[in-house]
Amino acid sequence: MSDVHLTLSEGHAFAMRGLTRAGLSAENAKPIADVMMSAERDACQSHGLFRMPGFCAGVSCGRIEGVTRPDVKDAAPGVVQVDANNGYAAPAIEAGMPMLIEKARAQGIASMAIIRSHHFSTLWCDVEHLAEHGLVGFAFVNSRSFVAHPGGVRPTYGTNPMAFGWPRPDSPPLAFDQASSVAARGEMQIHLRDGKPIPEGWGIGPDGAPTTDPAVALAGAQLPFGDYKGAALAMMIELLAVGLTGGKFGIESAVDDNSDGGPAIGGQFYIAVDPEKFAPGGDVAAILAHSESLFDYVLEEDGTRLPGDRRHGARERTPVDGFTIPESLYATILGLCGD
Ligand code: NDP
Repeated sequence: MSDVHLTLSEGHAFAMRGLTRAGLSAENAKPIADVMMSAERDACQSHGLFRMPGFCAGVSCGRIEGVTRPDVKDAAPGVVQVDANNGYAAPAIEAGMPMLIEKARAQGIASMAIIRSHHFSTLWCDVEHLAEHGLVGFAFVNSRSFVAHPGGVRPTYGTNPMAFGWPRPDSPPLAFDQASSVAARGEMQIHLRDGKPIPEGWGIGPDGAPTTDPAVALAGAQLPFGDYKGAALAMMIELLAVGLTGGKFGIESAVDDNSDGGPAIGGQFYIAVDPEKFAPGGDVAAILAHSESLFDYVLEEDGTRLPGDRRHGARERTPVDGFTIPESLYATILGLCGD
């Protein structure tokens, strides 16, 4: 299978054409195209154009609203609530962020719940955005249930990612962004597409037996990272992202899934913290300089790197070199664009 080379702007244009043809308004398609291209820019193939067929299918079959706009509510002094109205998460996050930032700056800490939304993306963009505004950011997202609880076999939790962002004075923010499963589901699907076995420990079959066959693991369950420790985080994320707001847990949204390839309904939860309100004497520069000493200590040892370093390396290259997608995905995208 050969690859097709694209520039980031070509990829963005394809995304906009396909998404709008599927039924998204241009206003809603833009933040989704942006986040897919951030993933390609940062060499995270599992959340780049690979997701476009799912984004399109969820809307074209009528399960997800393509033209609805999110409602942003000032729910309490420290609480923003955004109702995505059964649309995708990216437009809702974009709509709520300014109020979250304003509240965090005013009070030192604020939170944002996104309800009735469909999330299909990465989270680092959101916590980096908060950190670029000088705020410490946390993000939690639930998804359809794919992950077994230790000792069990049934898909119980979503792959439920979490991300954390920290502002840095002279560098891009520090941000980690990780699923609470051993691997993101997209990685399993990419192994299946490419005919490769998955590493041991990623999943179990429907009978509970460990497997390296991606098809068997996709039919069975994924495993949490760190056994019961990752499962506890996945459970916490279900409770924060949807339990708190009366949304659907992954096990409940799975019931409604029509297997169109798009994401199930769920929720997101954000926390933003203003370091200025916590820093002794309000001296943010001092606490940020102090945090740099921790990063320096980590990097003094050979073989170490900070979370995000791989992405930042890719971010230097892809605007110049572009990126590649498999020919089969390119053909699918041309079809979605009506070419
Ligand atoms: P990875 O395991 O690839 O990476 C997790 C984090 O660890 C990244 O921040 C990564 O930084 C960092 N990291 C990796 N290796 C090292 C190292 N050696 N030293 C220090 N840091 C390191 O991510 P996942 O597979 O868990 O998740 C991939 C993406 O999938 C995420 O963006 C997540 O949000 C998304 N996802 C989305 C879901 C949804 O429902 N919307 C569900 C599940 C996942 P770096 O990026 O620089 O490698």
